[in-house]
Amino acid sequence: MVRVRFAPSPTGPLHIGGVRTCLYNYLFAKQHGGKLLLRIEDTDQTRFVSGAEEYIIESFKWLGITFDEGVHIGGKHAPYKQSERMHIYKQYADKLIENGWAYYAFDTPEELEIKRKEAETEKKTFQYDMNTRNSMRNSLSLSLEETTKRLQGNYVVRFKYPENIEILIQDLIRGEVKINSQLLDDKVLFKSDGLPTYHLANVVDDHLMEITHVIRGEEWLPSAPLHVMLYKAFEWEAPHFAHLPLLLKPDGNGKLSKRDGDRLGFPVFPLQWKDQNTGEISSGYRESGYLPEAVNNFLALLGWNPGTEEEVMNRKQLISRFSLDKVSKSGAKFDLDKAKWFNHYYIQQKSNKELVEIFAQQLAEKKIHLNIDKIEKAVALVKERLYFTTDFWNQSAFLFQIPETYNPEVVKKRWKEDTPDQLHHMIEIFSSVSPFDKTIAHDKVIAFIQENQLNMGQIMNCLRLCLVGDSKGPDLFEIIDFIGVEETIHRIRMAIEKV
Ligand code: GLU
Repeated sequence: MVRVRFAPSPTGPLHIGGVRTCLYNYLFAKQHGGKLLLRIEDTDQTRFVSGAEEYIIESFKWLGITFDEGVHIGGKHAPYKQSERMHIYKQYADKLIENGWAYYAFDTPEELEIKRKEAETEKKTFQYDMNTRNSMRNSLSLSLEETTKRLQGNYVVRFKYPENIEILIQDLIRGEVKINSQLLDDKVLFKSDGLPTYHLANVVDDHLMEITHVIRGEEWLPSAPLHVMLYKAFEWEAPHFAHLPLLLKPDGNGKLSKRDGDRLGFPVFPLQWKDQNTGEISSGYRESGYLPEAVNNFLALLGWNPGTEEEVMNRKQLISRFSLDKVSKSGAKFDLDKAKWFNHYYIQQKSNKELVEIFAQQLAEKKIHLNIDKIEKAVALVKERLYFTTDFWNQSAFLFQIPETYNPEVVKKRWKEDTPDQLHHMIEIFSSVSPFDKTIAHDKVIAFIQENQLNMGQIMNCLRLCLVGDSKGPDLFEIIDFIGVEETIHRIRMAIEKV
């Protein structure tokens, strides 16, 4: 039975790279009929940010990524929050000490700092490892008596790497990754305040929660040798590892960071986030008008491809096509145009009725209350122009209100001396088609222009300017049909007056 987990630390809003990690875990679990867990790793209380856990849960709810067990739904290995599991870890640290896989260290921060400085003067970096541990203050170098005495005070438990062994990580994406234990530092696993570090809690929990595959970001690859060794030390079967490629900035230069998004015009967080200390707001995909379907689809393709040209894939298709061996080793560049393209595509796939639900709310915020049929008609008129759901008002305001301004460039180019006169003829034509029929009105306007040998572009553009305030928008006669003849005439008159 495949069991995978997403194990974020609640240190702020969830980065979109984390969302992708979770999505891949989800696809992998679903494909194998397995389970996905949500575990909150909050052992480092100094980095805890309130609201972050709720944010994570809401993000996945919005994206439709569901869990089988987790902090918000419970499950057979509850609790799923490490701060509620603190009673569990000490016995494991003790076990490592007993078996000679770990030792107590008593060096104070000041003492460690001195060692660092000393190394610096020799242009070296200090590392607490098999070469230095004997000259430090720990249970390996001190007598039993001294150690026992010092255990009353502050201490940490450090992992004791065996000397000069090759540690092998079989990564499902990267293949064999080897490192010599000589190069690794004796990481802290547990502290005398009773708190485990990330490494110990992560491995213990993955074991207890029966995790079979650890699928996580590349930034955790340097921790993998320690994790592999911990499994060995505990004599537990290690899970399979898969380290996903980084998400890179659009130009490929470096990791996609928190700041990039709003600087380059796209969100790096699923939902909007307000920093409680600075009040700074970071944009989110949801608030920026992305559909969850689009975000899932383009995120899936950032670092993975199905091995064919296929790009548009719904949830079911993603689940059946996903495979870890098609995940790339190199970083995936964020592609804003592609993200936009997907969003446009998924908006077009929505029925007008579904979109009405989103847009009725946007109109209500503008204090515009219309019946559903009318809104649905507006949706039909502008849908193909929408790249984001937030574009709706921009693309359709003229359907609901008279233009406030008239684009000066269009005025300059199109509005001529004889324009008001021609527009008065338009008014006559529209009044004469009663009841209004857009095809008849259209034919009459064309006939009028041809009979009088007028400039078609000029008249149509000026008419559009009167109704829309600009040169954009759907078919003119559709607009007239939507706003009605009376409003059309009113707008023409107002434009003549103002322009
Ligand atoms: N808590 C770690 C994080 O915040 C989890 C890393 C892992 O998946 O092992 O990403």
